[in-house]
Amino acid sequence: MGLRRYRERRELTDWFDRLLHALHQSEDTAANLTYIGLCMGFCCLAPEDGALTVNELVNRANMAQKSIKGEAGSGCAFFTESLRRQNLQEAALEAEGKQALRLGQFQPYFQPKFDIQGGERLSGAEVLCRWIHPERGVIPPCEFIPAFEKSGLIVQLDRYMFRQACQWYRRHLDGGGRPLNLAVNVSRAGLLREDFVDYYAKTKEEFSLPDGQLELEVTESLALGGETLFLQLVQQLHQRGFVCSLDDFGSGYSSLNLLKNLPIDVLKLDILFFHKSVDKNRERIVVRNIIQMARELHIRVIAEGVESMDSVAFLREAGCDTVQGFVFAKPMPLADFERRLEGEG
Ligand code: C2E
Ligand code: CA
Ligand code: CA
Repeated sequence: MGLRRYRERRELTDWFDRLLHALHQSEDTAANLTYIGLCMGFCCLAPEDGALTVNELVNRANMAQKSIKGEAGSGCAFFTESLRRQNLQEAALEAEGKQALRLGQFQPYFQPKFDIQGGERLSGAEVLCRWIHPERGVIPPCEFIPAFEKSGLIVQLDRYMFRQACQWYRRHLDGGGRPLNLAVNVSRAGLLREDFVDYYAKTKEEFSLPDGQLELEVTESLALGGETLFLQLVQQLHQRGFVCSLDDFGSGYSSLNLLKNLPIDVLKLDILFFHKSVDKNRERIVVRNIIQMARELHIRVIAEGVESMDSVAFLREAGCDTVQGFVFAKPMPLADFERRLEGEG
């Protein structure tokens, strides 16, 4: 933390660049190839801005720094009014979210998954969160999950979803329902909690749920950087009877290395991501080979974001096991999912 006089913002960013350069040079001479990332926030005070206390200045610089924390590499950011508005909105959302959690306004929706080799059979579901807001109606996760991830509230929400899923699955089995595969999402913050494996395993045991049917989904970005920890967690989860899947495979930094080292059970390929490619033929070559590679590693593949029967036909031929996509069903409230299950027999 420090105060600097400046005339133009450019002087500050140039200073930051010089600092970064010096840092990397000293790393090079020390023959240390692991670069340190530098992340800095600035709050500028011009005479016409009036008086601000040092505390307020530091708070604003911190806000700027937090806005880029977690991004890859180094960078600096300036405090802006819109950043402050966004922070206020996120704080309000967090307070409202805490209250909503107590009031039971979050509901699990179920998106069915279908095995496609040899017919199309409903084999399970992914549990996806919806906020049933008394005034705003159904709010999709993209509108609150990012803020909850920043504040840490996501951990409580994930655990709440998991508990709801377990409760329902117990009822389903008690009512004579057939075994299904139920998957929930786990966020980075949840994975890093010391009691992560214990919480999930104890909840599974509390409802006496069988091994091999509850699946925990984590995104590939979680595994990157902390591979040793991730490996240990996957091993512990296996011991406690969980299935582990890598979500959004192929969407981030490349993940082929992860497959080499991690004993995961399921790979989720988001087909919509691959659709961004211009040449369909090349897209299919890539998808087909990822599926082939996964099969050789004894990893099951779930294709997500599948919207056409044409894609289903291709995926079946390419050896993909399971499809989860609008082509068969959208995420739905529990009652609809139960009806769908009954219809399937
Ligand atoms: P995700 O885990 O990758 O979940 C799949 C998302 O893809 C869902 O969006 C689903 O509705 C959507 N989807 C599935 N098939 C298709 C398709 O054929 N076409 C299109 N266009 N979309 C399809 P949703 O429910 O809006 O969830 C978005 C994201 O929010 C999820 O992505 C997940 O990252 C996060 N999320 C949802 N619920 C939870 C939760 O309980 N905990 C955590 N940590 N994250 C959650
Ligand atoms: Ca998921
Ligand atoms: Ca996904």
